[in-house]
Amino acid sequence: MLEIKEINVYYGHIHAIVDATLHVNQGEVVTIIGANGAGKTTIQKTIMGLLHSPTGSLTFEGEDISKCPTASIVGKGIALVPEGRRIFPRLSVADNLALGAYSRKDKFVSQDMDKMYQLFPRLAERRSQLAGTLSGGEQQMLAMGRGLMSRPKLLLLDEPSMGLAPVLVSQIFHTITDINREGVTILLVEQNARRALAIANRGYVLEAGKVVLEGLASDLAKNDDVQKAYLGE
Ligand code: ATP
Repeated sequence: MLEIKEINVYYGHIHAIVDATLHVNQGEVVTIIGANGAGKTTIQKTIMGLLHSPTGSLTFEGEDISKCPTASIVGKGIALVPEGRRIFPRLSVADNLALGAYSRKDKFVSQDMDKMYQLFPRLAERRSQLAGTLSGGEQQMLAMGRGLMSRPKLLLLDEPSMGLAPVLVSQIFHTITDINREGVTILLVEQNARRALAIANRGYVLEAGKVVLEGLASDLAKNDDVQKAYLGE
């Protein structure tokens, strides 16, 4: 579904992504794990057309998207739920969700809003509340709901569990599994490697911009280096 081959991304002189190759098959949950600054967010931004690689290739469903503007990438079926949620604090929950469907022209937007309220009942109770007054966990649910409102085939999640209490972390990971079961393919960036590997089919380990290890999530979770560096064992 998504194929990234030998991309390099620079911020000025900083070589943030180094010859990275990875892919996501339809229906999978794939995770990218790595320490702070490894380049996980940079890969997601490159997929969304927010950053560009002068080398390699980036294709989605067989089509080159490396030069597409972000809006057209969303239109093709990819959505990003960014790190830190980035919801619109002064708009209501309902308006934030509606903005996720901004580029849609079909008639099913209000039907999908109802679906989001079923998936996230906490948001249903708070639909007219200003988003900035939601708790951290509720804001994460809203950011995910907003991402889903564009009806993505592939959902990119950047650190969805960051800053959440353990009970909410469990809930968010369950929700990611539910979303995947509904047919949405997931590329999940996480520092919580244990939880990410527990729900993913496959994973990539990123160190200083390089893919240093890849494999089935169950194998990565058993790997000595992964255990020492990312699972605290
Ligand atoms: P974290 O988990 O801390 O968010 P990450 O793995 O997502 O880390 P990135 O945010 O992709 O890492 O950053 C990769 C590298 O690129 C880091 O060294 C970072 O300092 C650098 N970087 C990121 N954004 C910029 C920017 N706008 N300008 C310059 N350097 C940047």
